[in-house]
Amino acid sequence: MTAQLIDGKAVAKALESEVAAAILRLGFAPGLVAVRVGNDPASEVYVRSKARKARELGLRGDELILPESTSEADLLAEVDRLNRDDGVDGILVQLPLPKHIDATKVIDAIDPSKDVDGFHPINVGKLHLGRRTLAPCTPAGVIHLIESTGASIAGSNAVVIGRSDIVGKPMAALLLQRHATVTIAHSRTRDLASVARSADILIAAVGKPRFVTTEMVKPGAVVIDVGINRVVVDGIGKLVGDVDFASVRDVAGWITPVPGGVGPMTIAMLMKNTVTAAEWRRA
Ligand code: NAP
Repeated sequence: MTAQLIDGKAVAKALESEVAAAILRLGFAPGLVAVRVGNDPASEVYVRSKARKARELGLRGDELILPESTSEADLLAEVDRLNRDDGVDGILVQLPLPKHIDATKVIDAIDPSKDVDGFHPINVGKLHLGRRTLAPCTPAGVIHLIESTGASIAGSNAVVIGRSDIVGKPMAALLLQRHATVTIAHSRTRDLASVARSADILIAAVGKPRFVTTEMVKPGAVVIDVGINRVVVDGIGKLVGDVDFASVRDVAGWITPVPGGVGPMTIAMLMKNTVTAAEWRRA
């Protein structure tokens, strides 16, 4: 059996069209500000592409670029200024921050109603209570991808490998809300292969190239690969996921590629969260 591919680019495009239509209905352009501190090359790319995508869809997308030497107090003052600016609906602070800045303090300082990354403890709490909130973009995007296959989440066995605050934990909460029986596996999990093999829906968010192999996958399962790992093959750098795509695609029923799977959904969900934040703030 060869798995069907889940085309993240196509699902993200459809979501982006919905976001653009929602902005037209709103009649004004919600504002997103992406904050970057320092010159981390990956952060530069992420922040630029988020602001650009925002503008492409009809949002106001601004980048606030601060020098590496910015103090924690100065960054907190900038966040406070954005919190008070009524034209700003969404604030995201790109992580990682320079070592001298406590990221937790900065996340906690963002107005929860503008926290389009869904990282503020109030929003995390609401997510786990099953209340209306802005959910973190990557796991929310994964839900869209699973739904695009037509597979039923309710009643399924879902296994999430990874328990980070930005992917694994919110992923498990979103699956539980949708009535899956959820297992979170991590580095201390015993006999991971048999735990993973119980999954109708298997989500890999480990950060290890090609970590999930065929013996971890139930035949016909929906396999979602969140991982983005840079590896060098024959002297050429490339991106691979946490799933050994070449072999697992012969066992799974559905599978996401890397790149072109979860990645495009993250930015699309950020745009959706910004429009949602604008609607809720003005309701
Ligand atoms: P992370 O914070 O490093 O968490 C990795 C998780 O994997 C941890 O919970 C860890 O367990 C678990 N783990 C590590 N080794 C394991 C093992 N041998 N067996 C079982 N579990 C193991 O990573 P993250 O931020 O969640 O990101 C995960 C991956 O997703 C990375 O490749 C990242 O680049 C990618 N990512 C992609 C997107 C996107 O937009 N596509 C967004 C965010 C992240 P412990 O907790 O026990 O240490």
